[in-house]
Amino acid sequence: MQSRGKLYVVGIGPGDPELLTLKAKRVLEESEFILGHKTYVERIRYMVKGKIIESKMGEEVERVKKAVQLAKSHTVSLVSGGDPSIYGMASLVAEYVYSLGLDIDFEVIPGVTALCSASPLLGCAVSGDHAVVSLSDLLTPWEIIERRLRSALKGDFVVVIYNPSSRRRVDKLVKAMEIVLEIRGNVPIGVVKNATRSGEEVFITYPEDIMKDPSKIDMHTILFVSNSETMILNGKMITPRGYSRKYRW
Ligand code: SAH
Repeated sequence: MQSRGKLYVVGIGPGDPELLTLKAKRVLEESEFILGHKTYVERIRYMVKGKIIESKMGEEVERVKKAVQLAKSHTVSLVSGGDPSIYGMASLVAEYVYSLGLDIDFEVIPGVTALCSASPLLGCAVSGDHAVVSLSDLLTPWEIIERRLRSALKGDFVVVIYNPSSRRRVDKLVKAMEIVLEIRGNVPIGVVKNATRSGEEVFITYPEDIMKDPSKIDMHTILFVSNSETMILNGKMITPRGYSRKYRW
């Protein structure tokens, strides 16, 4: 019988090696080929035995094609930072495989997404209903991003912002802060840069301050916009779930 391969799309978490799931670790150890963007591959290089194939940003489609090709007869891991379903590689693989009707065995191994690792560093920025928006307009037109951001803010969700800035589009961060100011006011914004990895920074700021100096927020940063219940307690950003409405302590 012809040996069949398998393609894993592996979430490798936010940075801390201990935040890699046991399943991700096993699959990476078993893989004959490991493909990914070089910054992600760098993080797991020490633990893999298979051949590493690095690529750059913007080469995602080529990377998926290569991985699918290899996975016909080998065990292959395509690594994705955080969780592969959240602005990661999972949907691209699924779209490619199912739209072409390819006979490929693939499985997504979930990972700890940036939101889950960053919220506790601030205190407890997310506790219940929240909305997640990416400001990257590489794949989504800005009009759609703006409409979703406005709706989330009007819905009083804690709004978690991925891809808040890059050298190319600081103007979009400033625009997003103008929208926060317009809809929610000058509310606290939790900022986490490089959660659980070297260069980690955590602070609380305000839309007006970000508009004045957007330079502290870069592409390695995630933002949490308060909802109407979010409090700053002892320097920590806490969005209560409602226990104190129901119980007394
Ligand atoms: N799949 C990833 C997200 C990829 S999009 C995940 O699930 O986390 C890239 C964006 O994620 C970055 O611009 C940043 O906003 C956020 N991000 C990823 N890792 C992060 C980290 N360790 N600290 C802060 N933000 C992070």
